[in-house]
Amino acid sequence: MKKVKFFSGEEIPLEFHKVRVVQKLNLQNIDRRLEAIKEAGNNTFLLKNQDIFLDMLTDSGVNAMSDNQVASMLRADDSYAGSQTFSRLEKSVKEFFNKRYFLPVHQGRAAENIISKAMVKENSSVITNYHFTTSRAHVMMNGGDMIEAINKAGIEVNSNNLFKGNMDIELLTEQINKKGSENISFVRMEAGTNLIGGQPFSIENLKNVKKICNEYEIPLVLDASLLSDNLYFIKTREERYKNSTIKEILNEISNCCDVIYFSARKLSSARGGGICFDSEKYYYKMRELLTLYEGFLTYGGMSVREMEAIAVGLEETLDFDNISQGPEFIKYMTDELVKANVPVVTPAGGLGCHIDAMEFVSHIKREEYRAGSLASALYIVSGCRGMERGTISEERNPDGSEHISDMELLRMAMPRRVFTLSQVKFIIDRIIWLHKNKELIGGLKFIDEPSKLRFFLGKLAPTSNWQEELVRKFKQDFGNSL
Ligand SMILES: *Cc1c(COP(=O)(O)O)cnc(C)c1O
Repeated sequence: MKKVKFFSGEEIPLEFHKVRVVQKLNLQNIDRRLEAIKEAGNNTFLLKNQDIFLDMLTDSGVNAMSDNQVASMLRADDSYAGSQTFSRLEKSVKEFFNKRYFLPVHQGRAAENIISKAMVKENSSVITNYHFTTSRAHVMMNGGDMIEAINKAGIEVNSNNLFKGNMDIELLTEQINKKGSENISFVRMEAGTNLIGGQPFSIENLKNVKKICNEYEIPLVLDASLLSDNLYFIKTREERYKNSTIKEILNEISNCCDVIYFSARKLSSARGGGICFDSEKYYYKMRELLTLYEGFLTYGGMSVREMEAIAVGLEETLDFDNISQGPEFIKYMTDELVKANVPVVTPAGGLGCHIDAMEFVSHIKREEYRAGSLASALYIVSGCRGMERGTISEERNPDGSEHISDMELLRMAMPRRVFTLSQVKFIIDRIIWLHKNKELIGGLKFIDEPSKLRFFLGKLAPTSNWQEELVRKFKQDFGNSL
């Protein structure tokens, strides 16, 4: 993808792919949307695709595949052991990450299960730039804990720091010294930090982390699920690498890391995952766990069709036009919202555009769920769904009180190569309208609250009739338009 300037002066990110298979979308009228969100208990996870226009819940398993990926799926060679498909995938992954060993798994968290079982010692710690939900859960299940050493800018909504995903090197050293290096199972770097706005780390930072790891003899593990965005940001933001190829940048990263794992639901735009490394010791340790939890060594729980698509998808990750599409669209959306004074996380990251609900609906009480309320309101006025990343996503304290989150974000994910620019303009327009009418948005309260991971299945109700008022104002301004 490249920025192209129009005669009018407008600059837009131009798509460098054409659409050859399409899927029909519905945009229900606003009365049905109000009904649908009520049926879903104001939880966007519980909406049905039939009622959704743009599905911006996640980028996981919903990226568009290329013609070559789809074609490759037809020649998949199915067999329990030793399929040609596995040989192709193995070759592709080893070349991509420049590692000796590759173990296939069914998705990212399965890699986390195996790595944690093999590497996390009882009562030890893992130090990370920032945690991800499933990665922390697996470390904890194996008797460890996860310590974050994100740099200060990482958790600020707005910053000029282009690498908000960087590890704070001083904090890292301090924590190792405090715990004792023998009590650190590994250091974990997450590319394109998911929970803080898809923010990248720099190679300079990664090299500094590796230096400390070497000094203390601690292995360095890379979560490469969101690596494609991070590669793009290094190429475009880290001066030293602006003339490097994507493969050269990737090699610099791989060479710093002892273990690399990924979710192929994101990286490679297919479905599956994998783990790679050079160490023979890890190979023998993890391969046993693999056959126990995932399947035989030559499929790891994946379908052969997805394995073919991953092999091709990884090669395509080295194409700048391919990996730039997501971040360029996200930047376009973020810039337009900034121009309209809508509070969003800046600089724009990968994964999606993150709206700062803390500020957007600052009149709503924290206990009435700002990001959750905004997600519900935005669905009503646009038919598009995002994901709440705020207090609803936290668990209650042991005494039953709310655990109020640090940030209240509404994440509008941008599945890669799925939407057109006019669709992105549509969601931008509805967000701007909603911001102008933000006083109409009210809070939510739980009416059905599961005790674990309540954000997936919990149901909420509005604390007043604010949703009807919002619909009334929408009709007044848009008439019969959807
Ligand atoms: C999605 C994700 C995972 C988990 O991958 P799944 O395939 O969903 O199990 C792990 N780490 C990061 C950074 C992710 O974004």
